[in-house]
Amino acid sequence: MAGMHLGLAQSLELEQRLTQAQRIQLNQRIFGLRMELVQALRGDLYRPEGVCPNCGRKMTATEVIRGFNTDPNDFTTCCTGCGFRFEPELICVGEISTIRLPFYCGCQALHRLGLAGMANFSPEQLSMEYPAIYRSVIVHYGGIRQAFREIGVDYPFQEISDWRNKVVPFLGRLRDTIIAECVDAPVSVIRRMRKKLGIAKFTVRKIVEEANED
Ligand SMILES: [Zn+2]
Repeated sequence: MAGMHLGLAQSLELEQRLTQAQRIQLNQRIFGLRMELVQALRGDLYRPEGVCPNCGRKMTATEVIRGFNTDPNDFTTCCTGCGFRFEPELICVGEISTIRLPFYCGCQALHRLGLAGMANFSPEQLSMEYPAIYRSVIVHYGGIRQAFREIGVDYPFQEISDWRNKVVPFLGRLRDTIIAECVDAPVSVIRRMRKKLGIAKFTVRKIVEEANED
């Protein structure tokens, strides 16, 4: 099978054959790659962190995200070890400093973006005035404009312009739709770029093989 082109049906079959543990690992890897892409685009690495204060379990980012209740006023996630609920953090690693912020789920971040006047703030202002909301939004939606679009608001500021070279290392390693989301471009643009460079599209098999090479 090695090196052979894998059709969508076979790829789906592979995905179904994965054990629960492999599936979790796969999702965590895709999430990690997505955060690497965000870092390539924006300079900062965002890392959701949840260490249970009750049992000490260190949760993965995807576990932290899955553990949220979709309640705009409940900031807790659920420990996968003991079920205790606690508030996770977002570690933001920049070139000169690392900051720890509260980490909001997608629903909480959108709820706060929807508050009056938020769309009048430039990305720089949002980043300064509402650092936790701003960064949580980027983790979940790829960018501020995309998140505002979710709540029916046309955000007038452009965030990332020179992204074309920065996405190249991620083409085919992440779904075209994820890359399109993170740069706020139509998926057809990403697909065209990828095809022009002769890079095969993302498949589950590719990412499993990439993981096995490590
Ligand atoms: Zn626990």
